[in-house]
Amino acid sequence: MFLVCSSRCGSKLFRALFAEVEIDASGEYVDHRITQPGYVCLNCGAPALDLGEVPAELEAEAREDDVAYAAADVLCPVCETMVQLGADMECPNCGSPLEVR
Ligand SMILES: [Zn+2]
Ligand SMILES: [Zn+2]
Repeated sequence: MFLVCSSRCGSKLFRALFAEVEIDASGEYVDHRITQPGYVCLNCGAPALDLGEVPAELEAEAREDDVAYAAADVLCPVCETMVQLGADMECPNCGSPLEVR
């Protein structure tokens, strides 16, 4: 996590919103969960942005692209069968090698 003030006021202090702290019967801290991500800048009160989550989201998107690419359909140039590209790159119908565009 890397929080920054959305107003760029330079403050390094933020308050977490919507955080529920769980305690046991003796009052000892057990766990907390964020019911909804939300942080505000303690200095100016502007919402804080979590820049730490952006690269992870971009990575996840890149992985989704890989999956879509691996499952791409290719038309066999010889017999015109639609072939879903997987581990082997041969047409299951006529056995001709397939090229990935
Ligand atoms: Zn601020
Ligand atoms: Zn074929």
